[in-house]
Amino acid sequence: MMPAAWVRSIGSLVRSNRRRAALRPAIVLSSLDSRNTPTKSSAQNSFPRPDKSSSRVSAAPSTLTEMDPMERLTSGFQRFKKEVYEKNAALFTQLADGQSPKFMVFACADSRVCPSVVLDFQPGEAFTVRNIANMVPPYDQTRYSGVGAAIEYAVLHLKVENIVVIGHSRCGGIKGLMSIKEDGTRSSAFIEDWVKVCLPALEKVKANHSALPFEDQCTHCEKEAVNVSLHNLKTYPFVKDGLEKKTLKLIGAHYNFVAGSFDIWEV
Ligand SMILES: [Zn+2]
Repeated sequence: MMPAAWVRSIGSLVRSNRRRAALRPAIVLSSLDSRNTPTKSSAQNSFPRPDKSSSRVSAAPSTLTEMDPMERLTSGFQRFKKEVYEKNAALFTQLADGQSPKFMVFACADSRVCPSVVLDFQPGEAFTVRNIANMVPPYDQTRYSGVGAAIEYAVLHLKVENIVVIGHSRCGGIKGLMSIKEDGTRSSAFIEDWVKVCLPALEKVKANHSALPFEDQCTHCEKEAVNVSLHNLKTYPFVKDGLEKKTLKLIGAHYNFVAGSFDIWEV
């Protein structure tokens, strides 16, 4: 599938992440974002920060990580409250009555790819699930009830109009999937089992691109895994129903933070 691409420049973010990428281990899954809990809108809630400040994005990472964590959290909220919350009183008053986001978004838990930052989502715009390698497992009420509950709530109750699955460059989860040993030996308690959700993507890449360097195979797999997730979404009865009634669209995307580009395709 050839994605129709559009490109957006995010130079400062790219530069700061280039420095960090060189220091990363093979599987990069630190700094999990905890802003995704699907809560009812409330004026008292701290919403996902719609970070429009380029100075925030390009701030020296070392300055942020060296701060005392309590101080970092407190000052971060104070900045959000002053710069966003208090300047958008009407929006937050409206959101206190409820949410009606048009988008449900699946994004990786990777700290470099927050969709609210990358896509400039405002509070109330995107109902978001983040997990390892932005995967959507197939319909399974026993194994994947957490993801299933989120999709059910988004589609049946919030009536989102679009479900977007966003893969990304240098994804540690995808690298983990591509590194799974064929002899069945495991080196993690959960990760390998989880990323096997997108095993068909691994198999497709191995079949079609085995001559490429490993890094390039991973790039292909990042995009193919999105397609597997989009396919898996169709196994949920309420998603299938929404697609048939044309009240719902499925969109695939790949964010390359090294090149500063964003590819998007519709299925
Ligand atoms: Zn990732």
